[in-house]
Amino acid sequence: MTILYRARWVLPVVSAMIDEGAVAVEGTRIVGVGSRAEIDEQYPEAGTRDFGEAAIIPGLVNAHSHLELTALRNFLEPVEGDFFAWLSKLTVARLERMTADDLCVSAAWGAIEAARAGVTCVGDASDSAQTSAAALRDVGLRGIVYQEAFGPDARLAQEQFEKLCEKVERLRVDENSLVRIGISPHATYTVSAPLLELFTEYALAESLPVMMHAAESIAEMRFMREGRGEFAENLARRGIEWRAPGVSTIQYLARLGVLRARPLLAHCITVDAADIETIKESDARVAHCPKSNAKLGHGRAPYAAFLRSGVKIGFGSDSVASNNTCDILEEARFATLLSRAGEGNIRAKELSAVDAAAALHTATVGGAYALGLEAQKGALAVGMEADITVVALDGAHQLPAHDVNSALIFASSGRDVRMTMVAGKEVFRDGRVVTVDEERLHARIREVGRKLVGD
Ligand SMILES: [Zn+2]
Repeated sequence: MTILYRARWVLPVVSAMIDEGAVAVEGTRIVGVGSRAEIDEQYPEAGTRDFGEAAIIPGLVNAHSHLELTALRNFLEPVEGDFFAWLSKLTVARLERMTADDLCVSAAWGAIEAARAGVTCVGDASDSAQTSAAALRDVGLRGIVYQEAFGPDARLAQEQFEKLCEKVERLRVDENSLVRIGISPHATYTVSAPLLELFTEYALAESLPVMMHAAESIAEMRFMREGRGEFAENLARRGIEWRAPGVSTIQYLARLGVLRARPLLAHCITVDAADIETIKESDARVAHCPKSNAKLGHGRAPYAAFLRSGVKIGFGSDSVASNNTCDILEEARFATLLSRAGEGNIRAKELSAVDAAAALHTATVGGAYALGLEAQKGALAVGMEADITVVALDGAHQLPAHDVNSALIFASSGRDVRMTMVAGKEVFRDGRVVTVDEERLHARIREVGRKLVGD
C-alpha cells in the first residue's frame, strides 16, 4: 500500500525545496518525492496524510548518544566541575543503584525522547549494548550501537580484547535491518595502544563500525602531548605506565592505524588544521556535540572548518547526563550560533557558509554519512529508506516562516515535531510514541529517578 505524506513544504536536503510537496512511501521505502500534483497523479489510489503548515524533512540523526544514561539527566550537575568525581558518581549510580531492568527503562526512555524529537537514527555508545539495542528495537528506531570497551593497562590487552569479542558475537545474533552493532574503544586515556590495535584489526576483519571519543578536552591534550595532568595522574595512581606520544589524539590514532577503520570520532574539539586534514584524508567521521561540550566547559569543535574541509560530520547530543536533552534541531541551532559567535569579526562570506541550510544538512545527510548509512538514509529521495520527520511550522514562535531553513533551525526545536517515521513505520504521531507503552515507562523512569537519590 502506498501512502502520500503531504505538507506545505518538503525539504529533500539533497535537492531543491518543494512548495506544496508530497512524499510517497511504500513498505519501508520512499517511492516518490515531488509536488503534490505530480505525486497525486502518480499514485491516484494512495492513502494520504496532510500535515498542512509543516515541513517534511529527512529523519534527524543523533550521531552520538548514550541512551542507557538517560536516568542520570539533571543528576550530575553538582559534580560537573570535577571530571573524576563526575565519572565516579555516574559509575556508582549506574552500577550500584540501577538494576538491569532500570537500565532498560533508562535506555527506552532515551529512545522515546529521541523519537518525540524527530530523531530516526542514533549512534549510541553503550556499556551494556544489549540494553540500548533492545530499546532501539522496541521503540522502532534505526541505529548503530557501539559496545564500549575500556582497558588502559597494556598488560591486560589480550584478555580485554577477548572479552569484547565474546560480547560482540552475542550481540550480533540480534542484529536486524534497523539496528547494527559496532565497537567503541572509549578513548585514548582509557584504552591502551595494544588494545586499540587489536580492536582495529578486529573491526577491519569483521566489518564492524567503530566509534571513539577523541580530542575532547584540554586535559586530554596535555595527557597526549606531555603525559601530565589529571588523566596521567589517574593512571599513575593505578600503577599503569603511560608514555605520552607527544602528538595530538588524532595523530596518535593515525600512527596506531586506528583511522584505517574510518572511525566515528566524537567531539574533536582540540584539533588543528593538520588534524582536520588527517581526518579528511583517512575518511574518519566526526560527531559534533556542541551543547555537551559547552556545558562541560570543554570548548567548541571548529564546525566551520569541518564544513569547509568536507569532513563527514553529524550532530550528537552526547548523553543527557551532560546535555540535558536529545534535540538535534536545538543542537543544530546551537552549533550554528556558537560557530558564528566564536569567529568574532567573521566576514559575510564565512557567515553564509555556516547557515541554516548547512545545519539542516549536517543534522540529516551529514549524520547518515557520519554513521556510514548514507546509502540507506539521510535524504528524501526515491529508493531511500523512508526515515522521515515532520516539523510543524505554524507556532507563535515560528511565524511567518519566510525562509523555511531558517524557521527550522533558528526558530524550531524537537518539541515542534509532529511525526517521526522509520523505515516506513510511524513511530511517533499525534503526540504519542505508538510502539511502546509510554505510560508504563513514564511511571518507571520516575521510579528509577527516586532510586538514584536514595528515596
Ligand atoms: Zn560520549
